[in-house]
Amino acid sequence: MTPNRILGFGIAAAMLGALSAGQAAAQEQQFVSVGTGGVTGVYYPVGGAMCRLVNQTRRDHGIRCSVESTGGSVFNVNAIKGGDLEFGVVQSDVQYNAYNGEAGFADTGAHENLRSVFSLHAEPLTVVARADADIGEFDDLKGKRVNIGNPGSGQRALMDLLIAEKGWTNADFALAAELAPAEQSSALCDNNIDAFAYTVGHPAGSIEEATTTCDSVIVPVEGEAVDALVENNPYYFQATIPGGMYRGNDDDVNTFGVGATFVTSADVSDDVVYTVVKSIFDNFDDFRGLHPALENLTPEQMVSQGNSAPMHPGAERYYKEQGWLN
Ligand code: GLU
Repeated sequence: MTPNRILGFGIAAAMLGALSAGQAAAQEQQFVSVGTGGVTGVYYPVGGAMCRLVNQTRRDHGIRCSVESTGGSVFNVNAIKGGDLEFGVVQSDVQYNAYNGEAGFADTGAHENLRSVFSLHAEPLTVVARADADIGEFDDLKGKRVNIGNPGSGQRALMDLLIAEKGWTNADFALAAELAPAEQSSALCDNNIDAFAYTVGHPAGSIEEATTTCDSVIVPVEGEAVDALVENNPYYFQATIPGGMYRGNDDDVNTFGVGATFVTSADVSDDVVYTVVKSIFDNFDDFRGLHPALENLTPEQMVSQGNSAPMHPGAERYYKEQGWLN
């Protein structure tokens, strides 16, 4: 054999090797989708941060993660149930009610395959009103044009409960708008609504938009109905929106809220969930640095708080390896 032919053979062999490795990768490639919320919320960038960390090591595990903007928490648990999404970010109250078939899920029944993965940032119920709308507290929303949230969102589920707890109905508002988060700030500043309610982590793009585009104020949400919800449900807690975070809102505002959580289905394999969880926690400092709402999270807290559906065994495996679970 001439040296050239040896070389030629070598290249062909290398190409063959590359081809079969490529084929194997193609066969093993798995796609997972993460359902989030509106693009001006916090779920969407957080879902993007998670997928980025998963995709960073795609060559090792073959999982391609994509983030999807959706209608929010309730949409996400329903899409996970239907097999249209593998993962989703959902409010802790929505996780609880979906798994147990309570509140807004009483008619559809318990979503028994829902599995928790970890919890995330706090989401205070954030009511933003036009400064000229004469709204100083939640009760002033009566008779006003209020965005109570699009069906499928976590804020809508929470507003439905709070309105019922107060003994109000949607007819108590001059208008009960059902706008998605991406539309609510321009509706507020165009004077099409007086206020909107949004369960969201901070800082959130939507609240930044509303407070910088026009004069608007964050309104406290307190009183008996709130106390009753907090007292009777472990996933609601008193919360404060820190002053100084948004233009024109220098003081802390008292409200109540939920936690954001990351969930999946029992139908998603242990290996996939393990890999997703490992990609995030092996790079936890990067993850925390990808959005300011994640800044104060700790793994121990994320594993032990806010998760009411059974933990997915793939996640459990990683947490046990880390010593975060017994
Ligand atoms: N909490 C909202 C919901 O469940 C979404 C908030 C966000 O997108 O950050 O629909």
